[in-house]
This record gives sequence, C-alpha cells and structure tokens, in this order.
Amino acid sequence: MRLANLSGRATIVVDGRAIDVATASAGALSSDPMVLSDLANHDALRNLAASAVAADWPELDEAQLGAPVPRPPKGYGVGLNYKQHAIESGRDMPTEPHLFAKTENCVCGPFDEIVIPQGLTEIDYETELVIVFGRTCKQATRENAWSFLAGVTCGQDISDRGEQFRPPLKQFTIAKSYDTFGPTGPYLVTADELADPDALELKGTVSGEVMQEANTNDLIFDVPALVVWLSRYITFQPGDVVWTGTPGGVGEARGRFLRAGDVVETEIAGIGRMRNPVVER
Ligand code: ZN
Repeated sequence: MRLANLSGRATIVVDGRAIDVATASAGALSSDPMVLSDLANHDALRNLAASAVAADWPELDEAQLGAPVPRPPKGYGVGLNYKQHAIESGRDMPTEPHLFAKTENCVCGPFDEIVIPQGLTEIDYETELVIVFGRTCKQATRENAWSFLAGVTCGQDISDRGEQFRPPLKQFTIAKSYDTFGPTGPYLVTADELADPDALELKGTVSGEVMQEANTNDLIFDVPALVVWLSRYITFQPGDVVWTGTPGGVGEARGRFLRAGDVVETEIAGIGRMRNPVVER
C-alpha cells in the first residue's frame, strides 16, 4: 500500500487516485493520518483499497501532501550508519549504533520549505530512509523486526553543523530538531510493495546537483539490526519513526552548505521523491 497525508487527511493512493480513508470507510476509520502508521488498521485499509473504484476518486495532487506521520510519539536518528559517510567524516567505524532524538516539531512534509534561521551558515542536508513503527515493539529479533514496521518513507535529517559540533560538548538532538529540519514523505509505503526492502536506492540532490547516491544495502546497521538494538530497552509504538542514517556526500564533507534559494530533492526507488525549497528567515 501507498499511504499519504493529503491536506491533513488519511489517504490511500491507488493508481494515482486519492482515496479518502474516513469517507471510504463511512467514518469507521478516522481522517487523522496517524491511523496510517497503526498496523491494527492495515487490514481495513487494504480492504478499502481493494474495494474502491479508483476512477471514482480524484487524482492525487502531490503538492498537497503533508508528512505521512505528522505526530510521531518518538523520533530518532542514527549517526554514522554508512561506511562511506564514516570515512568522509574522519571517524572510526561504529561497533554499535549511535542515536540522537529528532523531536516532533521538526517534522514537515515532502514539499514544505526548509527554514534556515537567519544568520546560520552551516546548515546541511542528509538523505535518509525513514522507518515507521506500526505496533508495540520490545526486544525484537532480526527475524521478526520488519513485522513491527508499518512501512518506510523518505527523509531528510537537516542539521546545523555549527551547533552539532560546538565545543566542548557535541549537541546532536538540538542541532537536528529545529522547526522544519525533518522533512518526510511523500508516501508511507508498506514493505510488501518493495522488491527488497533491505536494498533501496537513495538519491539526494541540491539545486539539481547529485550530492548523495547509495543503496540501503550499504548500511552498517541495517533495518533489522536497528530495530533489534533500539528495542532492547525501549518500547516502540505505532507512529514512532527512525531516520536510519545518511550515506556519503553531505555538505560538511564538500564544504557546500544549504542557502536560501536551494531546492533539496530526496528520492528513494519505490517510495517517491520529496522536493523541499530552502528559505531563510
Ligand atoms: Zn542523519
């Protein structure tokens, strides 16, 4: 299934048409997009998708899409999770995942503006696969890890490098959680839609220039490994999201930071493409 937040309403996308979940279910399911990331609703959503006559529904207008999970109860990001990115940042390979939080306020949609606070000059892009939990998860195993996930989406983990590495202590969570620093979308895609959910091509461009190109099969800690490690001591809930880390080619390594007028495009094969303009204010 391809699931979306269309103008703030839960939507199933079938053949480019937008099936409104609340209307199609005659109110049995809420219009709140958060219903999409709860696996308890997925059988009902699949039934709606199967029984809907797509032609009866309006064509999807991508420009009206918001974050598929607009209010994640928890959000984390993984640092240094591609070998190439670890090398370019001059750091040792991690032997276990390193996490920071990305808070709800930073979440924005696939075509929303990324807002640089005035005067900041080291704002960076990070193209990432975002996983979305769909049911209560504690102490997952590699074998059952994917079964806890409602699906995946594209993400940007926008970062203020100046603040992130400000001496004497690093400060990842604040530097990666400014308002609009967590674009996600355009769709929440269930794993069964993807030929191999552990091998997804990602591409990140800034103003048309390809900056990042990789495959999630290069992750140091793949999706099952992250789910296992994260759920050792923390219980995950439907709607919790994790940015799984960025490949090489970030602005910090290139000396090319984001500035007003840039357009950040983020594409993952089988999921879709986000297009976020950059403004300063
Ligand atoms: Zn990141």
